[in-house]
Amino acid sequence: MVKGESNNFVMSENLEYDLIVIGAGIVGCATAFTFGNQGRKVLLIERDMSEPDRIVGELLQPGGVIVLEKLGLKDCLENIDSIPCYGYGVFYKNECVHVPYPKIKNNISYQGRSFHHGRFVMNLRRAVSKVSKYVFYIFSYSHIPSDVI
Ligand SMILES: Cc1cc2nc3c(=O)[nH]c(=O)nc-3n(C[C@H](O)[C@H](O)[C@H](O)COP(=O)(O)OP(=O)(O)OC[C@H]3O[C@@H](n4cnc5c(N)ncnc54)[C@H](O)[C@@H]3O)c2cc1C
Repeated sequence: MVKGESNNFVMSENLEYDLIVIGAGIVGCATAFTFGNQGRKVLLIERDMSEPDRIVGELLQPGGVIVLEKLGLKDCLENIDSIPCYGYGVFYKNECVHVPYPKIKNNISYQGRSFHHGRFVMNLRRAVSKVSKYVFYIFSYSHIPSDVI
């Protein structure tokens, strides 16, 4: 049994896993979610379960939105005040040039999303914590305890 704070996530007495993922950021959550849905037992370790407060990863390009949909994680873009975006605006003095994303078909554009990085990450962590059938364990540690590996 690993001792320590669990931040409301489930803790395990069985210390055997198919996969150990360090870091519950965007990549770690997507990885743990995907392998967990394949029926693999995943241990996801994060050192800080509070909402990240970094000005990074605020614009998800259309390719990212498409991948989230394929992974079954598109819901994570909801309820975080995310704003759909359809291209860029390049400003020079008083002029603005629009650089739209290409159309998919029937005049429908590819869509990106803009949001607060931390709120998106917290939605991803919630999604991971719900894959209970294949049981994930998320701990809050600054290092991996020696009795885990
Ligand atoms: C200034 C800036 C702006 C950016 N803007 C964009 C953008 O607009 N759009 C875009 O798509 N991308 C953007 N990026 C890139 C994007 O932020 C990263 O690609 C993305 O966050 C990487 O995700 P990650 O899961 O690999 O890492 P992170 O998001 O950094 O997550 C890593 C996680 O691992 C945890 N961790 C680290 N070490 C340990 C440890 N030893 N034990 C336990 N946990 C640990 C951390 O606490 C963190 O939660 C930007 C990056 C920067 C720096």
